Amino acid sequence: MISQILNGHEQGFWVITDGSQIWLNQGELPHGKAHEFNLTNCEAFVVGEYGTSPVWLVTQTRSSGMYSPRQLLDTDIELFQLIGKAVQLSEFHTSHRFCGYCSTIMHPSRTEWAMLCHNKACRQRYYPQIAPSIIVAIRREDKILLAKHTKHRNDIYTVLAGFVEVGERVEQAVSREVKEECGIEIKNIRYVSSQPWPFPHSLMLAFMADYAQGEILCDTKEILHADWYDTHSLPNLPPYGTIARRLIEDTLVLCRNDN
Ligand SMILES: [Zn+2]
Repeated sequence: MISQILNGHEQGFWVITDGSQIWLNQGELPHGKAHEFNLTNCEAFVVGEYGTSPVWLVTQTRSSGMYSPRQLLDTDIELFQLIGKAVQLSEFHTSHRFCGYCSTIMHPSRTEWAMLCHNKACRQRYYPQIAPSIIVAIRREDKILLAKHTKHRNDIYTVLAGFVEVGERVEQAVSREVKEECGIEIKNIRYVSSQPWPFPHSLMLAFMADYAQGEILCDTKEILHADWYDTHSLPNLPPYGTIARRLIEDTLVLCRNDN
């Protein structure tokens, strides 16, 4: 939370980001001393440690070599999570330079990840926004529901997902999204796991559920096609390392047991 001005000799991993894209050194997250990446005299925050190396955040835009953090999805999950944290904090700092109540310039807190308004008559405190979203795998006996989303490139079929709406319980969001996107009703909704997802500031809450009733009727704005698949006829699935793939694999185990 306390930023420092780099003298050039600090070492570690460097997340050089504008809050959406990050700078990669020949496709890799830069690792080494600050001066090797022209970071001397830049302001930096330590966002965590990976192994014995600190992971630094530097908010900076470079004219070339900026990529989506998706390029690093193959990275070890612990490091990818710290990269995501840095990207989100950078976006938070950039989008909270001024107080929304009184327009005064704000500064990062020295004790927590927050931005503080220094206007004595205001003193608002802002925290990074986290948008909860749900992702759910649905089983019907020995089959899993998989859908081709309009926003996905390639020919990938995956589980259903969507954002939790204001004033809504997470379980309600699961049922609502499934009903809206595919027209069916579900039961036995079980929480499985979570994954921070920095695109741009989501926290994905993963569930498994069972089919209850209804016929598939896709919302064509979001879903191009959806169907029930058994383990012998699977379409192209999302890559390993994503929470979607984990949900699919866990559900396929149940499908096989139902056979
Ligand atoms: Zn203020």
